[in-house]
Amino acid sequence: MTDVGQLQRKGRPAEHKVVRCPYCVEKREFKVMEPRDKANGWYMCHKCGHLTMPDNIEFRCSCAKCSGLATQTHLRSR
Ligand SMILES: [Zn+2]
Ligand SMILES: [Zn+2]
Repeated sequence: MTDVGQLQRKGRPAEHKVVRCPYCVEKREFKVMEPRDKANGWYMCHKCGHLTMPDNIEFRCSCAKCSGLATQTHLRSR
């Protein structure tokens, strides 16, 4: 009879996530990325062109910074 664990949080539906660009800093914070395609959950940084898709962990951005890192890290993938 104890309703411990109020697991059912009646929260609001997911509002805008704030997604920040890992490469750009603005006012001592990482730059907020703009939702680009809400249906697919794309976000884009207008400053460096970085793209991200928070719901898809396998998404790989192909901006200069990411691909630059990727070539360093994935020299020998396979
Ligand atoms: Zn950026
Ligand atoms: Zn990127």
